[in-house]
Amino acid sequence: MSRSLRGICTAKLRQLDLPSPLTVPRLCAHLEAVRQRPITLMPLCGLPPGGPCGIWVATSATDFILYRDSTSPVHQSHIILHELAHLIFEHSHGLDGDYRRLLLPNLGETAIQRILGRSAYATPEEREAETLASLLAQRISHPPDDTTAESADEQILRTLLE
Ligand SMILES: [Zn+2]
Repeated sequence: MSRSLRGICTAKLRQLDLPSPLTVPRLCAHLEAVRQRPITLMPLCGLPPGGPCGIWVATSATDFILYRDSTSPVHQSHIILHELAHLIFEHSHGLDGDYRRLLLPNLGETAIQRILGRSAYATPEEREAETLASLLAQRISHPPDDTTAESADEQILRTLLE
């Protein structure tokens, strides 16, 4: 993880002014309010092995985050964060047509503005999304509020008093 990439992602996070403590639903609600567009999370079963674990589909009205549900809750959450990171950065690149037809038989080609598949990390956009997803995951497991600092102080105090 290069420092500049991490710097870009940290700046992006600061700019978002996320609520604390942060959860995946609260992150989605915050992004919906900022972007003025609904986000729908959809578990997806039957994704072929080796293919993407998550996909962001932006239609004219809604952002859909499809994620593989045959994996652990922690992994599911990371897949969702990765796709939300693409959305936050407004990334766009194509997923190949076979996947599109397989996964989205009911969505017209014209309705789909962007499709992203979480399968390879070779592109700069993938590294950017993965870095931001990791930073978001850290926020979610360790919210940066004063309670942790206070509890650490309290622990020291308790140790001194004992
Ligand atoms: Zn990706």
